[in-house]
Amino acid sequence: MQQFIQQFASDNYAGICPEAWAAMEQANQGHVPAYGDDAWTSRAADAFRTLFGTDCEVFFAFNGTAANSLALAALCQSYHSVICSSFAHVETDECGAPEFFSNGSKLLVAPTPDGKLTPDAVRALATGRSDIHFPKPRAVTITQPTETGLVYTVAEIKALSAVCRELGLHLHMDGARFANACAALGCSPADITWKAGVDVLCFGGTKNGMAVGEAILFFNHSQAEDFEWRCKQAGQLASKMRFLAAPWVGLLESGAWLANATHANECAARLGAAVVGLEGVELAYPVQANAVFLTASPAILDGLRAKGWRFYTFIGGAARFMFAWDADPARVTALIDDLRSVATQPVLAVAV
Ligand SMILES: *Cc1c(COP(=O)(O)O)cnc(C)c1O
Repeated sequence: MQQFIQQFASDNYAGICPEAWAAMEQANQGHVPAYGDDAWTSRAADAFRTLFGTDCEVFFAFNGTAANSLALAALCQSYHSVICSSFAHVETDECGAPEFFSNGSKLLVAPTPDGKLTPDAVRALATGRSDIHFPKPRAVTITQPTETGLVYTVAEIKALSAVCRELGLHLHMDGARFANACAALGCSPADITWKAGVDVLCFGGTKNGMAVGEAILFFNHSQAEDFEWRCKQAGQLASKMRFLAAPWVGLLESGAWLANATHANECAARLGAAVVGLEGVELAYPVQANAVFLTASPAILDGLRAKGWRFYTFIGGAARFMFAWDADPARVTALIDDLRSVATQPVLAVAV
């Protein structure tokens, strides 16, 4: 097999971290009951309750699109609406799944310059229309960290949840990279979720070092009513549930969830620091988690591509570099060196 040299186009390019892999291997012994009625699944759910310091309801889904969509569907009737940022994954990258699984709850998109939703933006959308002809606002979703790599502080989340409470809205958090936010803030998972007024969290496992899997945590028990049926109907109930659950046990009990995220954030911080003062290259957003967005001339970006680097430019309007749990510091150094060299000597014409 050809070895694919490490790239930072997506944190999903990475493989499975050792702790998740070891737990999968341990779970791969003998027969256990199916559909979540097994010891691995209850141990993983308990590990979440311990980590969050609260008796939350825990469910497991295969991916983030399903986790977000089903969680939002649980908060809304079909005639309701969900307020999100214009950068939100639910709006830009889920192929209409939130609307589909909620049977039509409409996303109300707030124009946010940097991907962060604000209390004012929520209030404007939630109070703009209250007549019978407009879908009734019922939920707000925020992404922590945002698609642009920004982290909501505890105070910002509390301010958002205060507006939600006032206006009768539920607060959902898309935590596809939730661990990176905890690492960045140095706070406990509880501080930026239920203690700050978040009702439902989708905690990403895939980008944190698992092969596959996201957890949905309901901090409000009544909102979780019948959620297992919703998951089953959506094709998200794993029959061999132990293999979705065990890697969580590996990540959470070992602390790898946080160590993985801390390492990824540190790599992003290194690249971010290297860009400061580099002529022709700007940070499109401050580097706060594991993402770096660069604004540079087409010549510089082509120069990076010519040196073999892959990156996305369709997210956040800039060249995105995303660091995973296994980001190789030597490759980060190589990227920094190549960026410096193309910034000082941009490729003027790329051979075709
Ligand atoms: C990756 C990601 C998801 C989940 O995507 P899936 O491909 O459905 O697993 C959700 N939200 C955000 C912000 C993401 O970056």
